[in-house]
Amino acid sequence: MTSMNVSSHPEFDGHEQVVMCEDRASGLRAIIAVHNTSRGPALGGCRMWPYLNEEAALRDALRLSRGMTYKSALADLPLGGGKAVIMGDPRRDKSRELLLAMGDCIEKLGGTYITAEDSGTSVADMEVIGERTRFVSGVVKGAEHGGDPSPSTAYGTFIGLKAAVKHRLHSDDLRGLRVAVQGMGNVGFHLARLLRDAGAELFVADIHPELVERAVLELGATAVAPGIIHALDVDVFSPCAMGGVINDQSIDDISAAVIAGAANNQLASRDHGLRLHERNILYAPDYVLNAGGIIDIAYQQGAGDQQAMRAHIDGIANTLTEIFQRAGAENRSTHAVADELAESRFQQSASQVMPVTAARAVS
Ligand code: NAD
Repeated sequence: MTSMNVSSHPEFDGHEQVVMCEDRASGLRAIIAVHNTSRGPALGGCRMWPYLNEEAALRDALRLSRGMTYKSALADLPLGGGKAVIMGDPRRDKSRELLLAMGDCIEKLGGTYITAEDSGTSVADMEVIGERTRFVSGVVKGAEHGGDPSPSTAYGTFIGLKAAVKHRLHSDDLRGLRVAVQGMGNVGFHLARLLRDAGAELFVADIHPELVERAVLELGATAVAPGIIHALDVDVFSPCAMGGVINDQSIDDISAAVIAGAANNQLASRDHGLRLHERNILYAPDYVLNAGGIIDIAYQQGAGDQQAMRAHIDGIANTLTEIFQRAGAENRSTHAVADELAESRFQQSASQVMPVTAARAVS
């Protein structure tokens, strides 16, 4: 074990543990960051990405693990926040040996960190990792769970979008509501189907024309060019593609009364959240709205059945309504109120937090 200096990193936020895993035989180079375990073990996906260097991987692990603490706290899960990043190209560098070595590394943490699939890893990869560690979720377990959390993420986003519409537009009825969905991937398409079933009028965009075509044919959606989907004259803009879509270039073009989508890190910066507030656009904080997936994964860990999981995801509406009401009463932006509420939940038991250990485990 050799030490790694992380506490001076700009993204370091009192993380409890940061571990570097290396396995020379398989070529594994990975970082596991555990941000906070005061509410429970740190659950978060294992991302595989061809990072430019170790610093970029560390930055991602620190930032994403912190985000998971906030997400799980506001989803009222007995979980903390963690994330694993494997440095490498998933199409070129992923091998059974590398995944098994990753499983060994996770097992050594003794349950402080529980992994799941993420960008660059799949349910099948989690099954391989699971050959070496008990601390893995998001794997196929019988007929009830398919392993893929996307349908639950879409359902939670739908529930949250309805709560936002009720708060801002004072309506429970989505019939005739004009919604622009950016991204027709796993979550976006499921969400669009739920919105169509509820009677909404859909406008959709994706950089892959065949995905748009499918939504047009199967859901009766109107196709829109990716470059203008955020600027449509609609009631709701629903970002379900990539992060940073609310930025200096796009923000003044948005005319929707509500922004409610599943994409992570929609605000390019916190200032953009303030700007939305000043423009009287109701922003449903992304990590509150898209928690259906982590709730699903938590229930795959054995916390309860499908019905209980559904009820838990339905709770996203109450959490959002509390955030909207508090933000309105205090004339503050919704993302600031959400962060504060999350922090109050995971800081309650801060006295139990373990000291930081930054170590390099080489096998
Ligand atoms: P996905 O990769 O299946 O879908 C994303 C889609 O966005 C793709 O079809 C892609 O072509 C499209 N896209 C990319 N750039 C675009 C652009 N500029 N304009 C329009 N479309 C564009 O991913 P997903 O699983 O559906 O996740 C969508 C978002 O939700 C991501 O930000 C993800 O981090 C977030 N999220 C997903 C889950 C989950 O359970 N899958 C959970 C929480 C958050």
